[in-house]
Amino acid sequence: MDNPLSIKNFSRTKLAIPGDEKKLLLHSCCAPCAGEIMEAVAASDIETTVYFYNPNIHPQEEYEIRKDENKRFCDKLGFKFIDADYDKDNWFERIKGLENEPERGKRCTECFDMRFERSALFAYENNFKVYATTLGISRWKNMEQINDSGKRAAKRYANVHYWDFNWRKKGGSSRMIEISKREEFYQQEYCGCVYSLRDTNKWRQKNNKDRIIRGIKFYN
Ligand code: SF4
Repeated sequence: MDNPLSIKNFSRTKLAIPGDEKKLLLHSCCAPCAGEIMEAVAASDIETTVYFYNPNIHPQEEYEIRKDENKRFCDKLGFKFIDADYDKDNWFERIKGLENEPERGKRCTECFDMRFERSALFAYENNFKVYATTLGISRWKNMEQINDSGKRAAKRYANVHYWDFNWRKKGGSSRMIEISKREEFYQQEYCGCVYSLRDTNKWRQKNNKDRIIRGIKFYN
């Protein structure tokens, strides 16, 4: 598939997924993280299906905005978009006892595990041999923690592999921002769960900054 979009002074090299597979299931957390990765796989003729499974996002209005933004970009690039469950009750059940963990701690490991277990299952049931996630492109995240979860989930199925490509490298992180601005994606200001919203607001208060007002900020 030709990439219908372009970035100033940048021409993409083609990527190859493990095993020379041509089909990829891409777990996506949001449009800003997905944008650069989606353009990279589009330019590499990798047939990609975006899998949106993020029951961590709170509240539901925030979840709907992030999902719609991601779907909007999928439609633009002609990618298939799977709108998976918003099974937030299961997420809260799984996170019980970890509510006060810091970001990048044990709560996040459970959160990644849950999302990737479902992604790996979908891959297995729908004949995808390789899956990846957009989560690791963000510098706020611990890439090793994400990749460990990704591999752990893939190990449940003999024919499913987790692709741990480093999307940050070779300018990926800055293109992520550039694409977000070009597309005027919604700009979320906290990771996603109610606890990250709580902790970000606490940090803001301590640093004399205004509390987050959800749903109003867009990259431009
Ligand atoms: S901070 Fe982010 S990764 Fe960690 S549990 Fe909350 S939503 Fe999940």
